[in-house]
Amino acid sequence: MINKIGKKYSKKRDTILQVIQSTTSHPSAQWVYEKIKLWIPSISLATIYRNINLFRQHGSVVSVGVVDGAERFDGIVTPHPHFVCSRCGMVIDIPCPDMEILKAILGDHGENLQSFIVDYRKTVFYGFCTDCRDKALLLENYGLSR
Ligand SMILES: [Zn+2]
Ligand SMILES: [Zn+2]
Repeated sequence: MINKIGKKYSKKRDTILQVIQSTTSHPSAQWVYEKIKLWIPSISLATIYRNINLFRQHGSVVSVGVVDGAERFDGIVTPHPHFVCSRCGMVIDIPCPDMEILKAILGDHGENLQSFIVDYRKTVFYGFCTDCRDKALLLENYGLSR
C-alpha cells in the first residue's frame, strides 16, 4: 500500500524521469527544473538533483558530462557517442557501430586487446553545430570584408 505522501513523491519522480526521457536535448538539472516547475510549482532544484542521482544509481539516466559548467543528462542509456557544440552547448546523439563491431576492431589490434572485456564506453566529439559554424563563418567573412 502506498500512503498519500509516498504516492506524491513517486508521482514527482515519474514526472522528472519522463521529462528527461522525453527530450533528446540532454538536459541539465536546471533545464529539468524549469520544465517541472510549470506542472509542480512547489518543486525545488534540490529535489530534481536528488531524483536524478537516484535515476543514475538505478541506471535509468546517464550523465553525458559537464558542458559549459553544467552536468547534462541522457534518458537514453544504451551507450552511444555524442557531439557537443563548443559554442552553444548543444548535445546531440551520434549513431554508432554495434558493440560487436567495436570488439572486432579492438581484436584486430592484437591479442592483448582481444582478451579485454569492454563493458562501458564514452565517446564525445567536440566542434561547431551547423548554426554555430555558419555564424562563425559570417563573423569571419565580416571581419575579412572590413
Ligand atoms: Zn552550436
Ligand atoms: Zn545521448
